[in-house]
Amino acid sequence: MKVAVLSDIHSNGDALDAVLTDARMQGAEAWWCLGDIVGYGAEPDKVVDLVRGLDAVTVAGNHDWAACGLVSTRLFNRHAAHAADWTTKNTRPENLTWLAGLPLVELREGARLVHATPSAPEEWNYCMMIEDALLEMDAFEEPLCLIGHSHYPGAFEKDGEDIRYTRAPQLRLRPGRQYLVNVGSVGQPRDGDPRAAYAMFETTTGLIEHMRVTYDVEAAQAKILDAGLPPFLASRLAAGD
Ligand code: ZN
Repeated sequence: MKVAVLSDIHSNGDALDAVLTDARMQGAEAWWCLGDIVGYGAEPDKVVDLVRGLDAVTVAGNHDWAACGLVSTRLFNRHAAHAADWTTKNTRPENLTWLAGLPLVELREGARLVHATPSAPEEWNYCMMIEDALLEMDAFEEPLCLIGHSHYPGAFEKDGEDIRYTRAPQLRLRPGRQYLVNVGSVGQPRDGDPRAAYAMFETTTGLIEHMRVTYDVEAAQAKILDAGLPPFLASRLAAGD
């Protein structure tokens, strides 16, 4: 089965449209969503409606729960806090209720799905370094854990006591090894590449491909500015940082 794995859409409807078109062209048969559907961008209802329409297996991100009041924005930077407040006021109540009901963890096809880290999903930590991965890969039993949160696509591979990090565009899961894969961000990439990121996971062959898709960045930027959201949230989309 070919699964399209999306994360960190961040209310960017233009990026999500492009990713859905691409993933369907690639033959996606199922959809997993790793959270942060909303926050930062200007189209929260559009992206929530689209994800709900896909019947995607979905876990909560910190921005999803911030929008519905389940996570404090005290630790958010001021742009993120402003966007969270805007999102609360500009999202239909039934969509906020749906976001509030999302779980922190899902298990599918031998894979663990979580927004931030498997060791403590509710603490919204980052797993960026080998030292982080050492701890995180002891925190799940499955051969694969899929995460988002950092907006930085890449993968940790554990073979016995060895852990290595790779940003290779393709990864084939090998028996006996364990993987922690960050699928990157659909709506606000931060790895210097402004194209929308997602991953395609072929469950039978164990092939994971990091995909990149160009989308109408200027359209998304215009919507952010028109909504009165911080201009920085528009400008960073062009830089992909
Ligand atoms: Zn995010």
